[in-house]
Amino acid sequence: MDQIFLHSLRKTTARWRAEDAQVADDATGVNLFRLRMLWPVAAALNGLFLIGFLWRLLGAALPQAVAEWNLRLIWVHTFIVGAALALGWVVHRARQTRHARAANWLATGCAVLIMLVGIVLVAVDQPITPNITSYLIACLLAGGAVYLRPRVAGLVYVLSYVVFFKVMGWTQVHPELVLSNRINGFAACVLGCLCSCFLWRQFCTITLQQRQLEKANTELNQKQRDLERLTRQDGLTGLFNRNTFVELSRRELDRAQRQGSSTTILLLDLDHFKRINDTWGHPAGDAVLRHVATLASTTVRSTDLVGRLGGEEFIVLLPNTSAEAGRKLAEKLRYRLESTPVQWEKTTIAVTASFGLANTTVEEKRDFDTLYTEADKALYLAKQRGRNRVV
Ligand code: GH3
Ligand code: MG
Ligand code: MG
Repeated sequence: MDQIFLHSLRKTTARWRAEDAQVADDATGVNLFRLRMLWPVAAALNGLFLIGFLWRLLGAALPQAVAEWNLRLIWVHTFIVGAALALGWVVHRARQTRHARAANWLATGCAVLIMLVGIVLVAVDQPITPNITSYLIACLLAGGAVYLRPRVAGLVYVLSYVVFFKVMGWTQVHPELVLSNRINGFAACVLGCLCSCFLWRQFCTITLQQRQLEKANTELNQKQRDLERLTRQDGLTGLFNRNTFVELSRRELDRAQRQGSSTTILLLDLDHFKRINDTWGHPAGDAVLRHVATLASTTVRSTDLVGRLGGEEFIVLLPNTSAEAGRKLAEKLRYRLESTPVQWEKTTIAVTASFGLANTTVEEKRDFDTLYTEADKALYLAKQRGRNRVV
């Protein structure tokens, strides 16, 4: 039973240590941000205390011991104001220079300073009042203001208690009060240290969960983009798929109508493509389809739309193009296809295609479906007349 417990404890602490290292940089960033806020506030607050004690000292005549206590507090608060302002500036510089190691030490240094100031204030108080509130505040502030790795926090708290323990013996004359303060100080120290460790673990968990969420979110966005692309593109060739092409073409025809320009569409069907599949296999057929897609895309203008309707049929929409200019382009593409055979593994595959064209001027106002039907008829004629031609 003990062994199982020890084993799981060892596993948990090992996991925690690994997580500590993962979030160390994040903690440094948060610490610097908090300290940048904390020090100016501390300077202002202690400045107010300083004014209060000065007022008191200069105002009424105080008993000797009280006046001395007041004067010591003035010195301590003057030091705190100066140190807070200086540290505020140092933290500000550290945030600008982003020196990670220095920033890390700065947070630990600030926690140590908070503890020391708490102990000095307690020491100053002892001749007048036995309370140790300053040390209690310091223990809670050091744990709450900065995120310290538990190992570091443990060391800071243990050292602070050793100093507190000694100081109590030097500054408090009543043995009962020394004992009581040491016990209360111990409780404050343990409480502060536990708070510090709890806050650190919470910070670790939240930071790592946040990171996982961000990662999942990025992956989801990427998948969504891929999905959108897949719904718009043809998977094999990367050209617009049928639906996207039809949608874009309708929009383009509307625009052409408004601008008063004529539009040409060009339907392209590979000749005897089945034979290519049957002779060299479907992968070879796919390579031919990709080759045709690349050739078509690089032959037309960037404003022209190229799509794959399905199988070995392609379609091109040429905005702002007359029937004659469209025919010339189709002829050019037909020639390029005929004269650039596809290299598939060690064989050369000759490819030709038949083209059907349709055109609309502004006056004719033909819509996409009409143009498509006409181009299809023309393509049929091209096949009938012997293939590898433009009709
Ligand atoms: P025609 O000259 O009359 O157009 O003859 P064809 O052989 O090109 O036409 P047919 O319609 O008889 O055959 C088209 C072939 O295209 C049949 C089909 O297996 C093939 N095909 C369709 N889609 C793909 C694809 O994505 N990849 C491959 N490799 N082949 C495909
Ligand atoms: Mg076909
Ligand atoms: Mg065909």
